[in-house]
Amino acid sequence: MSTIEHWVGGARVAGNGTRTSPVFDPATGAQRSEVRLASTDDVEAAVRVARAAYEQWSQTSLSRRTKVLFSFRELVNRHAEELAGLITDEHGKVLADALGEVQRGLEVVEFACGIPTLLKGDYSDQVSTDIDSWSFREPLGVVAGITPFNFPAMVPMWMFPIAIACGNTFILKPSERDPSVSMRLAELWQEAGLPDGVFNVVHGDKEAVDAILDAPEIAAVSFVGSTPIARYIHERGTANGKRVQALGGAKNHAVVLPDADPAAVADHLAGAAFGSAGERCMAISVAVTVGEIGDRVVEAVSARARAVQVGPGRDPGSEMGPVVTREAQQRIERLITSGAAEGAHVAVDGRGHTVAGHESGFFVGPTVIDAVVPSMEVYREEIFGPVVSIVRADSVDEAIALVNANPYGNGTAVFTSSGEAARRFVRGVHVGMVGINVPVPVPMAFYSFGGWKDSLFGDRHMHGPEGVGFYTRAKVVTASWPRAEDGPSFHFPTAR
Ligand code: NAD
Repeated sequence: MSTIEHWVGGARVAGNGTRTSPVFDPATGAQRSEVRLASTDDVEAAVRVARAAYEQWSQTSLSRRTKVLFSFRELVNRHAEELAGLITDEHGKVLADALGEVQRGLEVVEFACGIPTLLKGDYSDQVSTDIDSWSFREPLGVVAGITPFNFPAMVPMWMFPIAIACGNTFILKPSERDPSVSMRLAELWQEAGLPDGVFNVVHGDKEAVDAILDAPEIAAVSFVGSTPIARYIHERGTANGKRVQALGGAKNHAVVLPDADPAAVADHLAGAAFGSAGERCMAISVAVTVGEIGDRVVEAVSARARAVQVGPGRDPGSEMGPVVTREAQQRIERLITSGAAEGAHVAVDGRGHTVAGHESGFFVGPTVIDAVVPSMEVYREEIFGPVVSIVRADSVDEAIALVNANPYGNGTAVFTSSGEAARRFVRGVHVGMVGINVPVPVPMAFYSFGGWKDSLFGDRHMHGPEGVGFYTRAKVVTASWPRAEDGPSFHFPTAR
């Protein structure tokens, strides 16, 4: 049984934490390895290393930093398939999807390669007589990222390329469910020429997270995960004086208007609800059908659901892999059961789904639940599995009201052929990321990613321009080079 260690100061370290956590292959249900869980001491040791590395890295010129980023970009690109394999083996998602995840992370690295332009400040000549003023942004120091299991490469890569490009040093606390890909990324950083100690990986659970939140030398924390933990991270981190952005869970609604094409909608819904076994924070988990199109959508999406090839992620024929753990599988099945018990109609039932040769894998089949109403548990809970609930509405306004009544506000989409209706929808919804005939409207790396309401605590979205803002702080300089004949001044200058 191999043991996955931490990566601190450019080397694998065991630390003094004595606890470990099992890492599974979700396709077989077998344990693959174990990962060390850091103690508070282990985190503090990593912070000291990152702090020492900050002294030099923050003074490293923009052009040298950019060269490291370009090298890292090339290495990630070259090793994309290897990285995808590591993701599939521990997360379960199919290889093509894992490769897509690496690609989306890579795009943030490419964005960060433009850091000399992104960090350009402003300059005002002669703001007063013989006085000039300029502004620029400086790094924060040691910053940390705490990330979820569902995108073990992409979500950390929303954070660290920009944080490091800005001159910070970084401590990543990845999910303990699929920790290996972050170790390989650490090696690639080293190969790219990043000085040791600038990027560190500390594995762990609540003990490690609390140590990060309490470490006085950590200036900022980026978090992505479930809403209860996001709220906790934000409260404890900010109480300790840190800058915190904490992205939480989601319940993304797709609204299908009567003028949409049901077949195209069904294709989009199937991809958005069942891709990655529904374990995406931007997955569509609720389809709100407006008017009579509902029956045709249910029929078409049910046909798509039955046709999905479910199997191990490394099998090229698989379109959907297993879910991440046995507990996740059981939780999803329990929620489907609760929907049926509360009066919804399970049109396609993924409970008890088995894959030949992988009978112990954590599989759940694609599931369509019709006639769902907001009071049901299956509607209220974030299921995070391959389950789409269909809610019927009579009007666009009723559909918008449903979206807005939901405590989450991550993503939403509208399917329609009416520009007027789409515009009304975009302007009316209280949600951070909106798609028009695009089911999973994840912003590109040069825009910023973030939800509203219980999907984000803090006021900065992730990556893109907001990421640069999060990982830096502003300094404004006012400069005068006095001449010998100027006397002292005892008042704020009036215009001079
Ligand atoms: P999670 O909240 O269980 O874990 C996220 C991180 O928090 C992990 O690193 C974990 O080790 C740590 N953690 C877990 N319990 C903790 C505790 N009690 N105290 C301190 N730290 C703790 O989330 P997950 O199951 O890994 O990921 C799935 C969730 O993440 C879903 O809710 C999903 O919607 C959300 N997510 C959101 C986004 C987004 O952009 N909003 C993106 C991806 C995932």
